[in-house]
Amino acid sequence: MDSLTPSPSPPPQSRWDAIVIGSGIGGLVAGALLARYGKQVIVCESHSIPGGAAHSFTRQGFHFDSGPSFYCGLSDRTSLNPLRQVLDVLEESVPAIPYDPLGHYHFPEATIPIYGNLERYRSAVAQLTPPGAAELKRLEQRLLGLYDALKEIPAIALRADFSLIPLLLTRYFPALIKLLPQLPKIQSSVGDLMRDIQDPWVRRLVDLECFLLSGLKADGTIAPEMAFMLGERSRSVIDYPVGGSGAIVQALVRGLEKWGGTLRLNAHVEQILVESGTVAGVRFRGGEMLCAPIVISNATVWDTYTQLLKPSDLPAAYRSTALQTPAVESFMHLHLGIRADGLVGLTGHHVVIHDSDQDITAPGNTCMISIPSVWDANLAPAKHHVVHAYTLEPFAGWQRDDTYENRKRQKAEPLFRALERVIPDIRDRVVLELIGTPLTHARYLRRYQGTYGPAIAAGKGMFPSCHTPISGLYRVGDSTLPGIGVPAVAASGILCANSLRE
Ligand SMILES: Cc1cc2nc3c(=O)[nH]c(=O)nc-3n(C[C@H](O)[C@H](O)[C@H](O)COP(=O)(O)OP(=O)(O)OC[C@H]3O[C@@H](n4cnc5c(N)ncnc54)[C@H](O)[C@@H]3O)c2cc1C
Repeated sequence: MDSLTPSPSPPPQSRWDAIVIGSGIGGLVAGALLARYGKQVIVCESHSIPGGAAHSFTRQGFHFDSGPSFYCGLSDRTSLNPLRQVLDVLEESVPAIPYDPLGHYHFPEATIPIYGNLERYRSAVAQLTPPGAAELKRLEQRLLGLYDALKEIPAIALRADFSLIPLLLTRYFPALIKLLPQLPKIQSSVGDLMRDIQDPWVRRLVDLECFLLSGLKADGTIAPEMAFMLGERSRSVIDYPVGGSGAIVQALVRGLEKWGGTLRLNAHVEQILVESGTVAGVRFRGGEMLCAPIVISNATVWDTYTQLLKPSDLPAAYRSTALQTPAVESFMHLHLGIRADGLVGLTGHHVVIHDSDQDITAPGNTCMISIPSVWDANLAPAKHHVVHAYTLEPFAGWQRDDTYENRKRQKAEPLFRALERVIPDIRDRVVLELIGTPLTHARYLRRYQGTYGPAIAAGKGMFPSCHTPISGLYRVGDSTLPGIGVPAVAASGILCANSLRE
């Protein structure tokens, strides 16, 4: 790393080295790293709060995570989490609280505790199926072999251009040799790695864990994604940022600004300016323009290519293929403030499956719950907890007409029923209730149809890289390599920024 020192904020200007559209984790990582590498960078965020899907918001003293609450490796220097590596480069950190057990899975017929410690997790599974627990161990060993091999090449060193090959050959040759036997697994789905697993219960458990990571079951989830999560869970730590997901966003914003970058909020980009196939800058709603030879879009693939560019800016075939990328559904959200009296031994993450005869991906059937005030009591007023529950819900059919309020209540019902598995008298405890629909999700996160992200199944295509056919235009975030989730989008920001580093 060069010996740059933090620089003061730059004066107002209309010409930049790089403009980043969007302050999701992918955009902030790309912007902050480019600032760290000495570029004049501005990150333009449509909303008044930065962070995109990872932003926090406050109502009546309750601090809510709008999306992610499951993090890893923030308090462990050996973690493979790319986000953690970025924070190190920015000379920032986020205090975090490690915890284990992580929470509980509630199937209709049984509830099992989830542990990061694999021995404990397997003995919990063995209570239900001893042969299944032995099969699970075989799968874990395959995935951990991949994690160990990947560990030798840190994400922070990677780039998404041809310089990657000489870099790997010169700096990481022994690691590459170690990775060779694992190469078939890198291309595989988790489903491929568990073909010999017979136990239906364990197969369902792995499907569920894959679904929680990627929005797809084991056959659609790439093995490295699961390997990363299992490795971090068992070899590093699962931890929660003090102050909630917004604390991570704040650390990235601090890093951006410390290294001379600028964050502009309430700055909705309406158009990416392209001249003769080369990017020239952006135009905001209201008409103001900024110029830069590099523009990085953190908006989704669908939003970037339909909202921000004119159809004629892209080759027609490329545009049409990109826009056909399948999307995971959107969400119903329930954010609650509840009274905490008498709630002892509560764990923080819960996943409730209502009906074993329905697919786990069916809207309303699998409900995810986080209660982050069990780790950080300051997120709620004294003697209260903050609760976030969500489940998949299609965007289609939602509109703000006179049926909206009723429909919203009705669709929140599976979330309340899920919460009753964890806190039976939850409805009597509610002091603050916010229900979000796919329309809310799309509006507050500026995401096409409020989607969780692209549904690119393993073996059915690759997430695209940060490059686009327009010279100077790049993309980061969960519709680029390596995909959905905070560690993945942080990696996308690294790949993009490193590729632009001279
Ligand atoms: C409910 C939920 C729970 C999740 N739980 C977890 C979890 O526990 N752990 C985990 O690792 N991941 C989790 N994820 C996934 C993770 O949060 C996302 O994959 C990740 O945060 C997406 O980051 P991103 O960089 O793609 O950008 P986004 O978060 O999509 O941010 C993009 C930003 O760009 C802005 N923008 C868009 N268009 C414009 C424009 N025209 N002008 C200006 N700004 C614009 C948006 O306002 C937004 O701020 C969860 C996601 C959701 C929705």
